[in-house]
Amino acid sequence: MILDSKIPKGPLEQKWDNYKKKAKLVNPANRKKLDVIVVGTGLAGSSIAASLGEMGYNVKSFCFQDSPRRAHSVAAQGGVNAAKNYKNDGDSVYRMFADTLKGGDFRAREANVYRMAECSLHLIDQAVAQGVPFGREYGGYLNNRSFGGVQVSRTFYARGQTGQQLLLGAYQALMRQVGKGTVQLFSRHEMLDLVVVDGKARGIIVRNLDTGEIERHAAHAVVLATGGYGKIYYLSTLAMGCNGSAIWRAHKKGALMASPSWIQVHPTSLPQSGDYQSKLTLMSESLRNDGRIWVPLKQDENRPPNDIPENERDYYLERRYPAFGNLAPRDISSRAAKERIDAGFGIGPLKNAVYLDFSKAIKEQGKDKISEKYGNLFDMYLKITGYDAYKEPMMISPSAHFSMGGLWVDYELMTTVPGLFALGEANFADHGANRLGANSLLQASVDGYFIAPYTIANYLADEIHTGKISTDAPEFEQAENAVKDQIKDLINIKGTKTADHFHKTLGKLLYDYCGLARNEQGLKYAIQEIRKLKQEFYREVKVSGQENTMNTELEKAGRVADYFEIGELMCYDALTRNESCGAHFREEFQTPDGEALRNDTEYQFISAWAWTGENGEPELIREPLIFEEIQPTVRSYK
Ligand SMILES: Cc1cc2nc3c(=O)[nH]c(=O)nc-3n(C[C@H](O)[C@H](O)[C@H](O)COP(=O)(O)OP(=O)(O)OC[C@H]3O[C@@H](n4cnc5c(N)ncnc54)[C@H](O)[C@@H]3O)c2cc1C
Repeated sequence: MILDSKIPKGPLEQKWDNYKKKAKLVNPANRKKLDVIVVGTGLAGSSIAASLGEMGYNVKSFCFQDSPRRAHSVAAQGGVNAAKNYKNDGDSVYRMFADTLKGGDFRAREANVYRMAECSLHLIDQAVAQGVPFGREYGGYLNNRSFGGVQVSRTFYARGQTGQQLLLGAYQALMRQVGKGTVQLFSRHEMLDLVVVDGKARGIIVRNLDTGEIERHAAHAVVLATGGYGKIYYLSTLAMGCNGSAIWRAHKKGALMASPSWIQVHPTSLPQSGDYQSKLTLMSESLRNDGRIWVPLKQDENRPPNDIPENERDYYLERRYPAFGNLAPRDISSRAAKERIDAGFGIGPLKNAVYLDFSKAIKEQGKDKISEKYGNLFDMYLKITGYDAYKEPMMISPSAHFSMGGLWVDYELMTTVPGLFALGEANFADHGANRLGANSLLQASVDGYFIAPYTIANYLADEIHTGKISTDAPEFEQAENAVKDQIKDLINIKGTKTADHFHKTLGKLLYDYCGLARNEQGLKYAIQEIRKLKQEFYREVKVSGQENTMNTELEKAGRVADYFEIGELMCYDALTRNESCGAHFREEFQTPDGEALRNDTEYQFISAWAWTGENGEPELIREPLIFEEIQPTVRSYK
């Protein structure tokens, strides 16, 4: 298979305009004849469903939560990027494009990245028009702060609740369409399979999570905006319900999966404190604007932080990366923390954390100013840990957070299954091997508000004569039966171990061997162990309850079953990429001072994987990356 990324011709800054000029349109009268399924109601899903509804298509919108506004975008704290240059500090669309491409370690497509930066200008205006209460300066202008990997301030924020506020904006737009009747809402419905008819995505099979009923839904196009799969590590900053099943089941129906092993580990989460946690709380990256990261100079230090004098502290990010200091990108900051912790300098009861210290900022700016900027994060920290971060440093630790990998999509955000689109964190497109902070809310939003409305219309323009898609086709029958069989099989195993037990074991295995650092031997070992664990799961998992009622154990078991397969593919992906880039750090490929060693001669491509069946090895298809505007250089933040 040859992958066609469909990047428009012409100069970089004209590509998206050129695409829009030539994209096919659908006459308003014909839009009523066309149905679109959107799975997911986060920023990507709500924004595309609302946009398509406003345009006059018939949209069905699905999510597994009880309300669309509980989608995981709600958890995002720190901010959303836009190249508005309000601070007059040298920002521009080009600068944002260059920062993002470099931040992703030159493993993303130039055209996609440029378009995201370009669309960022509109996103802020759209959000303000929706009433999103961004932080403002005294004179009324929107305020900005900095996130990692950049030297300008381009991050717009609504205190520490930017995702929630943006999602409320998108939710209002969605509910307006629900009120108008263009969008039909199916909350508490989980997509369990994709239906492909004559090579095109034509529908989905879902389970009503309250009644257990299995339903068929048909459409002319299907959009997956189902978020990321970082929860595969079990301990992560993601909520328990986040999962990769929708994209994985689409993958098994023909959609290629790109760069699955590129998962971001965030440097500033709260550390694990024991064996009974299912989630690690994120402390926003925005804190690194004023917080200084350090560990004691002495190994196994037990003195309280305030008793450790300045000259016995190692501000290791400032030491190693003087140009960016505490705002070094996430991959680099997380690895540097792991390096110090592994070397015996970790702090806290489990010696698995580093300090994030605000004492200098409080001395210079005053407590009120710091509270104004981060008050809700400090309150949250106090509630969770019992420590007052105004008085002593926070303890933070790296934690799995975001998937740069996802379904392979072309420039139109269409997967390798015609009519199947993937938006937001569910696709792989814009972040390369490492996402810059505050670029994800942006990507999810611009995919839904500004990009997919054009590209989906371009696809649907050829569907106006198709007529209603029936759910009676044999492909629907087969998919429904397969879903029902899997549910019955899981319930009938009647083993002794919970799905959670398997998830936890898989997560630890992946974190140890396919996490912040990987090597050939460990990855091979992990593949064997995951296979064994999967076999044990199918012998030993216990799913209590019934199939035709609400059953959260059954939901979990289905998701964990998919996680085994995703985890195995992650290891294959990491094993076949004999270089280090971004979040993918292969221990065999590093510079003498421990920095990532990229290999552009052999690995300047996107790895896209095809499913070859239960017992087959995944097939690797390469999409070469071509750089016309910026030639890849060794990434340096020193
Ligand atoms: C704690 C935290 C803080 C973050 N902070 C920031 C930040 O400050 N700035 C930033 O840019 N990014 C941040 N991120 C990342 C960002 O929030 C996400 O990448 C982004 O919101 C993803 O949006 P989305 O629309 O793609 O998916 P989501 O918001 O995750 O939505 C997924 C949707 O898919 C639905 N779904 C999934 N599977 C199924 C299924 N099988 N059937 C039916 N429905 C399904 C869910 O119900 C949900 O509606 C943060 C992430 C976390 C975890």
